[in-house]
Amino acid sequence: MTERGGFDYLIVGAGFAGSVLAERLANELNLRVLIVDRRPHIGGNAYDRYDDAGILVHPYGPHIFHTNSAEVYNYLSRFTQWRPYQHRVLASVDGQLLPIPINLDTVNRLYGLSLTSFQLEEFFASVAEPIEHPRTSEDVVVGRVGRDLYNKFFRGYTRKQWGLDPSELDASVTARVPTRTNRDDRYFSDTYQAMPLHGYTRMFERMLDHPNIKVMLNTDYREIQDLVPWRYMIYTGPVDAFFDYRHGHLPYRSLEFVHETHPVEQFQPVGTVNYPNDYAYTRISEFKHITGQQHPHTSVVYEYPREGGDPYYPIPRPENAELYRLYARDAEALENVTFVGRLATYRYYNMDQVVAQALTTFRKLRERHTEATPL
Ligand code: FAD
Ligand code: UDP
Repeated sequence: MTERGGFDYLIVGAGFAGSVLAERLANELNLRVLIVDRRPHIGGNAYDRYDDAGILVHPYGPHIFHTNSAEVYNYLSRFTQWRPYQHRVLASVDGQLLPIPINLDTVNRLYGLSLTSFQLEEFFASVAEPIEHPRTSEDVVVGRVGRDLYNKFFRGYTRKQWGLDPSELDASVTARVPTRTNRDDRYFSDTYQAMPLHGYTRMFERMLDHPNIKVMLNTDYREIQDLVPWRYMIYTGPVDAFFDYRHGHLPYRSLEFVHETHPVEQFQPVGTVNYPNDYAYTRISEFKHITGQQHPHTSVVYEYPREGGDPYYPIPRPENAELYRLYARDAEALENVTFVGRLATYRYYNMDQVVAQALTTFRKLRERHTEATPL
């Protein structure tokens, strides 16, 4: 605790990055934390709430928790119980709803074939255009499944989602989606796949429920950073904004979310349906599949990619990585500010990766406190 009665840490952003660090610093090191967010709620982009119809929705798009990390899963399990959930996605292609990731059923139904897994491997080998060092998001898919499947499932979706051709994006973007030769139609294959039983917001409330943690909402940190005494800052917002865009704007991709409630029990057969080639939106997600909630009506969200607006996705491509390096160098030079999270480190991270990054950051900060500042 500071002698002046101020805060040891000012944490900017109450999403996963900020909330995990607030919890660790308060619980483990007994430090005093002020966590501020300019939005009117905690949880960052993972925030969920009950809509007017009483259905639990994710205002910032569907968030499905999955991880291979026992450490991350066990850590979050301190703050929530879980509901096992395996996400399934269908893509609307040539008038059919077909499984994505591409699997045995996708290919058989698309082309009217009845291949076995072994024959599908041969089929992929015959249509793939092998590329020795796949560099772009086009290389990855064309190198695995050939140009026709690439055009039908990936090219249009990616151009819509990113405003760029897959050939202009790093391989890592489309490499997020695997290709399978069996009939496994799960979107993810991680060891742990589950949703917080009572929602993300309830989980965040429990993380931040500590006498050493003060939460201040509707507040940009710039409004209070000179009014409240603090020693160290953790910043989880966009890194270029922190430095007043001194090297220029880092490109982020935005989305507009259009929410609807329908007076039917079910709107679509699975949690998410992707529309790679039609409409201005990329996908529709129906929350009840994801949360397991029973309700006579149902709520869905459409995602419309946007150039401007709230920053949601860093855009992985070489020139952006180069610009980010300038900001990363400036960030490293600041001794009392630590940058954590998807926007602050410009990484296309899932929730579990942000939690892992925050836990690693905590271990480093703990060294600083146990070495330099006897508690
Ligand atoms: P954020 O959640 O963005 O939190 C940062 C916070 O900082 C925000 O609340 C912001 O308001 C606040 N802030 C910024 N600037 C300031 C300021 N100046 N002053 C005060 N506060 C400020 N991940 C998965 O694992 N599974 C999924 O299914 C999944 N689906 C996704 C779907 C969409 C549409 C999107 C956009 C992301 C999805 N993600 C998913 C990724 C997930 O949202 C992120 O990994 C995670 O929420 C990032 O946490 P964070 O704390 O780094 O950032
Ligand atoms: N993608 C695609 N078609 C699909 C699904 C994904 O082209 O049907 C590509 C697209 O570029 C997308 C990327 O793969 O942005 C990653 O997909 P993911 O579902 O992981 O995106 P997120 O959920 O992070 O928006």
